[in-house]
Amino acid sequence: MAKRAAAIPLIDLKSQHDRIADRLRERVMKVLKDGHYILGPEVEELEAALAAHAGIAHAVGLASGTDALLIALLAERIGRGDAVFLPSYSFVATAGTVVQCGAMPIYVDIDPDTFTIDPADLAALVDVARAAGRAVPRAVVAVDLFGLPARYDEIAPIANEAGLFLLADAAQSYGATLGDRRVGTLAPATATSFYPSKTLAGYGDAGALFTADDGRAAAYRRLRQHGQGPDRADAVEIGMNSRLDTLQAAILLEKLAILDDELAARRRIAAGYAERLADLVHLQYVPPNAQSAWSVFTVRIEGGAERRDKVRGRLQDRQVGAGIYYPLPIHMQTAYRRFADRPLPQTERLAAEALALPMHPYLTDEDLDRVAETLKSALKKS
Ligand SMILES: *Cc1c(COP(=O)(O)O)cnc(C)c1O
Repeated sequence: MAKRAAAIPLIDLKSQHDRIADRLRERVMKVLKDGHYILGPEVEELEAALAAHAGIAHAVGLASGTDALLIALLAERIGRGDAVFLPSYSFVATAGTVVQCGAMPIYVDIDPDTFTIDPADLAALVDVARAAGRAVPRAVVAVDLFGLPARYDEIAPIANEAGLFLLADAAQSYGATLGDRRVGTLAPATATSFYPSKTLAGYGDAGALFTADDGRAAAYRRLRQHGQGPDRADAVEIGMNSRLDTLQAAILLEKLAILDDELAARRRIAAGYAERLADLVHLQYVPPNAQSAWSVFTVRIEGGAERRDKVRGRLQDRQVGAGIYYPLPIHMQTAYRRFADRPLPQTERLAAEALALPMHPYLTDEDLDRVAETLKSALKKS
């Protein structure tokens, strides 16, 4: 029987675990022994380490990235009668949290090169929404898709001019930079996720909010703990339970210690892909002043969903991981269609062409060669 090459998975969490298993075991055992399972000292230690790493005053640990988005919106008192602008090309939580707080999502198209929210479409839609007068434009959620910071240098002036709160959905981009600034500092508030497949990942659900503003940070801490004020017996506003577990904080501290090394590996791998694939497919464009965190490496396969799906099948047949983020943009999903009132051509096109290739910090040059060769032959046959 012919020997089969080992599978190259889309994401590999095992190599990282093997690297830090001993330190993780120690950290976790300490938490189990100490018994401070809720808001234990590791949570504070992680928040300080994250704030220092991102270069900002406050990091607030939360139960998930989804909760981080929701709490950021609740803290601004965004709700019924308000409109929030966001890209439809994102994970569903970007819109879900807007609807959950009672506001109306307005879907903005994406820039076909960076795959992130299109500043020109945003500006046009703000004017349209104002003229229509059905809901008050209050906020814009920019998503750092696949690890690439959105075009904050263009979005922030539009948001400022229109009086919109700018929230960064950095669930996929922790560790990325724009100019000399890290994700976490690119907007008045930044939500991130430590879901297991993200760049900084726990062993379960976790998330955080970053802000330079003392008042916002205090509000995030109240909202994650039932709205309790300094006197814990007195709830001063309506909050929720969204604390980051001490156990996840302990794990994340060890993950954060190797993050910059892993980000460098991701950048090297992305450059290796670009070299091998530039003539074959369209790559996500990274502006010269940006460094992506490369949580996902997605290329565009021209020819529509049918051809892309064939290429994906051929890669999978040959043990090369291939995924689709996102086959259905938010505005085409059952519960979210009702908020859509126009087509989003660039969003819909990317949904039909996007193909994610294996991406994690432990890919070798041989892996990249094999992915590139397999993709080349799959494209020829499809
Ligand atoms: C993962 C993700 C979220 C949600 O994060 P969770 O921690 O899974 O709740 C939100 N937005 C985007 C863009 C994501 O990729």
